Amino acid sequence: MSSVAETIAPAPVADIAPGRLAPADYAANFTDLHAPLDRHEALVESDRCYFCYDAPCQKACPTSIDIPLFIRKINTGNPDGAAATIFQANILGGMCARVCPTETLCEEACVRNDAEDAPVRIGLLQRHATDHYMASHDRFGTRAAPTGKRVAVVGAGPAGLAAAHALASAGHEVVIFEARAKAGGLNEHGIATYKAPDDFAQKEVDFVLGIGGIAVETGRALGRDVLLSDLRRDYDAVFLGLGLQAVNALAVEGEGLAGVEDAVAWIEGLRQAADKASVPVGRRVVVIGGGMTAVDAAVQAKKLGAEEVTMVYRRGPGQMNASPYEQEVAMLAGVAIVHWAEPRALTGASGIVTGVTFERTAIGATGRLEGTGERFTIPCDQVMKAIGQVFVPGPVAGEGAEALALEKNRILVDADGRTSLAKVWAGGDCVLGGEDLTVQAVEHGKVAARSIDAALRG
Ligand SMILES: Cc1cc2nc3c(=O)[nH]c(=O)nc-3n(C[C@H](O)[C@H](O)[C@H](O)COP(=O)(O)OP(=O)(O)OC[C@H]3O[C@@H](n4cnc5c(N)ncnc54)[C@H](O)[C@@H]3O)c2cc1C
Ligand code: SF4
Repeated sequence: MSSVAETIAPAPVADIAPGRLAPADYAANFTDLHAPLDRHEALVESDRCYFCYDAPCQKACPTSIDIPLFIRKINTGNPDGAAATIFQANILGGMCARVCPTETLCEEACVRNDAEDAPVRIGLLQRHATDHYMASHDRFGTRAAPTGKRVAVVGAGPAGLAAAHALASAGHEVVIFEARAKAGGLNEHGIATYKAPDDFAQKEVDFVLGIGGIAVETGRALGRDVLLSDLRRDYDAVFLGLGLQAVNALAVEGEGLAGVEDAVAWIEGLRQAADKASVPVGRRVVVIGGGMTAVDAAVQAKKLGAEEVTMVYRRGPGQMNASPYEQEVAMLAGVAIVHWAEPRALTGASGIVTGVTFERTAIGATGRLEGTGERFTIPCDQVMKAIGQVFVPGPVAGEGAEALALEKNRILVDADGRTSLAKVWAGGDCVLGGEDLTVQAVEHGKVAARSIDAALRG
């Protein structure tokens, strides 16, 4: 390959500012990505379901919701009954209806794809049922008789909340230790604003806690305020739903320049901002990565008024973790996606980032990704790093000879979520095999809670 250097003169000053749009634009830009179905639309959509025996959609759902049954209930005018079917399998069915990449899960498996190239809109029907139920109920389920057993759950994300609800339902007392000031995990701090507007994450936390028997201690971090050895001593069982706490570094020159940000932290700031107009965004933004975080950062930067947003991914569209649908959402929002390019240096002036130099990539003769030698620079005011999150094992270290087994820097668990330590289970993003999906974290919490319950009942 020839080595062509193409350099565009960088801008001399960073242009990262809040309030790029008129006030009304913020509300419009951060409204629901998908309008909910009304009653009539839900009836029409539910009519499209063939109510398959041995339904492939149910197998494709990580929480195995009985999808034909809940759709049948909607179809017969019983949305609350439909919601009960959903919540029995997935207590966070309301959030999953909003954030599941259904195009690669249940809806991908729908047999209507073969006939019409258009699946039953399972996510929207699920949302219709769960919203209907949550509008008039502050909890789901009732608690079994008290068992006198106490379980500590660490982390109030989807995995921890699902585990806590199932354990409380079984009659155990649960205490959740959460490092942050608010419960919800990435549902509250990471999911794109336009997927779960109107404070839905906190409404859902309240709904989950409504079962009773769950105390949440926010601002209490494992490894800092409480040790795993304390929890193992003081509780009958422990569930770890710690998620991933850090992001991968680009490991290129210039990473410390002002204007270079971790996309997850930037999204968290956006999610917690009471007024979206107060969130600063670059005029020209480069997002590095090809997953859901990269798409969410890029789309939300555009929605905040960035003029040029470019997502750059080192491989092709087919290898992106973001589904084709997510990629389409980005492109429809006006995000440019550049494939087959890897960052080589961040350029700057006066300590402020002014551009990112990339090298084009290709699959080499050995089948590995290689740089081609061809370089180009994209001028920008802000760079967001979104090349994956990592588990930080520090909080679970220090158990002496009895170390918690890790593999590939994630907690090793068996099919029931049991770790190598007695009395300790784990699930969600922090465990090996976690798929970094909300619905998968819910399933892990549910499965581990069943195993804990069985162990506590002897
Ligand atoms: C930007 C972004 C967008 C995403 N979008 C989607 C999407 O659209 N759809 C989808 O399905 N998935 C999405 N995901 C993935 C999804 O959010 C996660 O897979 C899911 O939240 C994992 O749940 P969890 O409970 O394992 O971890 P988390 O949600 O990360 O929750 C872990 C909790 O543990 C707490 N914690 C951490 N360390 C400690 C400690 N030492 N002591 C006490 N508490 C601690 C954290 O504060 C947090 O509240 C997205 C992820 C990101 C980063
Ligand atoms: S939880 Fe997600 S994958 Fe499962 S049926 Fe609902 S939308 Fe589909």
